[in-house]
Amino acid sequence: MSETKLPEAKKSQGPSAPPPKRPRKKHTVRNVLLLLLFLFAAATVFAFGINKWRIDISLTGDSSVTYECGTPYRDPGASAEVTGSILKFVHHPVEVETFTEGVNIHEPGTYRVKFTAKFLWLDAVASRTVVIVDTTPPVIELKHIDDYYTLPHHEYKEEGFTATDNHDGDITELVEREERDGIVYYSVTDEAGNTATAEREIFYDDRNAPVFSFPSGEEVFIYKGEPYKDEVKAEDDADGDVTARIKKSGKVNTEKIGTYTMTYTVSDEWGNVATTSRYVTVKRKLTLPTVKDPDKVIYLTFDDGPGKYTEELLAILKKHKVKATFFITLAYEDYQNLIKEEYRAGHTVAVHSATHEYSEIYASSEAYWKDFNKVQDIIQKETRCRSQLFRFPGGSSNTISANYCEGIMTKLAQESADKGYTYVDWNVTSGDAGDTTDGEVMYENMMNGIHTYKNSFILCHDIKEYTVKMMDKFITDALKEGYTFLPITAESPSCKHGINN
Ligand code: ZN
Repeated sequence: MSETKLPEAKKSQGPSAPPPKRPRKKHTVRNVLLLLLFLFAAATVFAFGINKWRIDISLTGDSSVTYECGTPYRDPGASAEVTGSILKFVHHPVEVETFTEGVNIHEPGTYRVKFTAKFLWLDAVASRTVVIVDTTPPVIELKHIDDYYTLPHHEYKEEGFTATDNHDGDITELVEREERDGIVYYSVTDEAGNTATAEREIFYDDRNAPVFSFPSGEEVFIYKGEPYKDEVKAEDDADGDVTARIKKSGKVNTEKIGTYTMTYTVSDEWGNVATTSRYVTVKRKLTLPTVKDPDKVIYLTFDDGPGKYTEELLAILKKHKVKATFFITLAYEDYQNLIKEEYRAGHTVAVHSATHEYSEIYASSEAYWKDFNKVQDIIQKETRCRSQLFRFPGGSSNTISANYCEGIMTKLAQESADKGYTYVDWNVTSGDAGDTTDGEVMYENMMNGIHTYKNSFILCHDIKEYTVKMMDKFITDALKEGYTFLPITAESPSCKHGINN
């Protein structure tokens, strides 16, 4: 269009006409454009040249924080914005990335949490110092056992303890303990130097009285005129040997036959008192007949009396001037006075059983000795002396006792030795315990027996009429054959079956 317009204007003004002036308006527009261009360039230079852009990272919270070892660490974070050095009014928020991976809350040390922010060509880095410290002391835990006590004068036996540390873990092994003046002190220090202490007061108690012991047997038997040494010891669980503190009462007259009671009292430092007593028997020394032939000795023994036929038997023995041994029961009260007669006649009086009831006496050791002591008491009453010798009902080899108590014979044999007694079995039986009632048969049994053994311990029962009736003939014939009859004493050869229960 403008091309067509220009020739038209040339035509109307002619060739002499001055050159047409450029329109003024066009000139102004160009200048404005140039100005704008200049302003734009100037603004750009200002905004990106003179003004410096940057990212500012601001930490939330302190730039350095201290945490206790083991405490979970959660960083409060940071914020960031783009701003200019001159164009400070510009605040353009920028996302911040936080890096806490380097922080080990379980290990004391100095760590840095890193923060980064990016915007176009700008980036920024900041950090926070995290100090992990261990200022927590370990924990000592003491274990307590119910009703626990320590004996006076004794070292405390540890009930147990543990030590744990927030950083070091189980450090029980490092605990040092010291016992001083009734208190146990515990102390432990962790790697970081934190020390923990604990202490416990020792509870002392002594609940047991001293225990007596008798080196020469609980019961003592000596012969008249023999020296007597009262041997007794006492041991306390806390104080140890307290023998020196024993107080004795009672007196033994070694010149007078009889059973004496000695009483002993002792107390430990804590005040527990123990008392016991024991029998000391000063026994007579029997005048024994001369043994004609040491291979021909007979120990006649009569069990289960005294009874209806005992008196008759005593007369037979007296007639032949032979001594025997009586193992006493208390079955026949009317004849108990004969115990004294037996003793006076120079026979040996020894214990058998009060009741002779296997089920009762072999039920327990306590039951046995209770029954036993009833006989001892009667013997003591009748003869003034307790007996050192005894015979087990059924013999020491009996197995019937196993029906009532397993192992009772083993136990009783041991206890009898501890108590100072000697038990006596037999090696010849007359057969009057139930095998026969025939005196002839008994005679044969006994004759065979004495011909077999150098020392015959013959089992008879003075409560059997047929036994007593045949005894005169047996003694007469045995004496004729050169045998010597002896009462059993503590010095006699031993006759023991052997324990089977
Ligand atoms: Zn018997």
